[in-house]
Amino acid sequence: MRYRGLVIRPPSEAGSYILQVTYGCSHNACTFCPTYTGVFFAPRDLDEISEDIEQASRLIPGTRRVFLADGNALCLPCDSLESILHELSDAFPGLERVGIYANARDINEKSEDELRRLAGLGLGIVYLGLESGDDRVLARVRKKDGCEEMIGAVRKLKHCSIATSVIVLLGLGGREGSRDHAVKSAQAVSRMDPEYMSALTLMVVPGTPLYREQEAGEFELPDQLGLLEELRLFLQGCELSQCTFRTNHASNYLPLKGVLSRDKEGLIKMIDSAIQRPELLRPEYMRGL
Ligand code: SF4
Repeated sequence: MRYRGLVIRPPSEAGSYILQVTYGCSHNACTFCPTYTGVFFAPRDLDEISEDIEQASRLIPGTRRVFLADGNALCLPCDSLESILHELSDAFPGLERVGIYANARDINEKSEDELRRLAGLGLGIVYLGLESGDDRVLARVRKKDGCEEMIGAVRKLKHCSIATSVIVLLGLGGREGSRDHAVKSAQAVSRMDPEYMSALTLMVVPGTPLYREQEAGEFELPDQLGLLEELRLFLQGCELSQCTFRTNHASNYLPLKGVLSRDKEGLIKMIDSAIQRPELLRPEYMRGL
């Protein structure tokens, strides 16, 4: 159970055993992302991974959930992932779900047969950062994949019985592009129809290319009210069949949770209340990445 560098996981994997199977992110170029700055991407040695699993099976034998880190571990070849999943199910008899981060290309480069095999071995959820449904925003922030590729990837996973959790990044369109970012992101997730979705709020971190753009006056983040209005517009446009939506990430001003097909109007009312009473919002000093 050894870790190298900064290891991140989605909020919903807080109780999971985190197993590092790669170091960094194979793309590592998004202008807003500080997570793996200076980290050289590499797959982790499979023998080392086996040693960690063996140790974890003695220390935390009741493990039910495992999250495979780092940034886009689904880029590993299918045979490596199959061997890791086999070892995990042997080590943890009560294992219920394995989660992983992925870029759309990692999914689209695998065949449906491969994805079904991974699902059969316990891969239950893939976390994918859509960030924005606006291709102009995606290109500007140097996201690896375009919107259509990401929609296709989520649909492919659904077809292969793997759930998806899609992440949208509020504020990424900037003040001028906020409306298009909200509307197009809602259109994209409605076409994806994922099982889970979360919104994070952009924090512009010193040292990132986006920070330098902001310093040069080339990017302006919407203010708090603008971000809430963006979230409202986004939610209004979402038409999803059965999706659990959360804004429980520490970057957000307003924590929300609900099933959109049932709770959308209630969530929008909560946003309206927060717009009227900003004292209900998470204070700036309590926000984090
Ligand atoms: S793909 Fe994800 S982890 Fe990699 S640079 Fe972009 S935001 Fe960061």
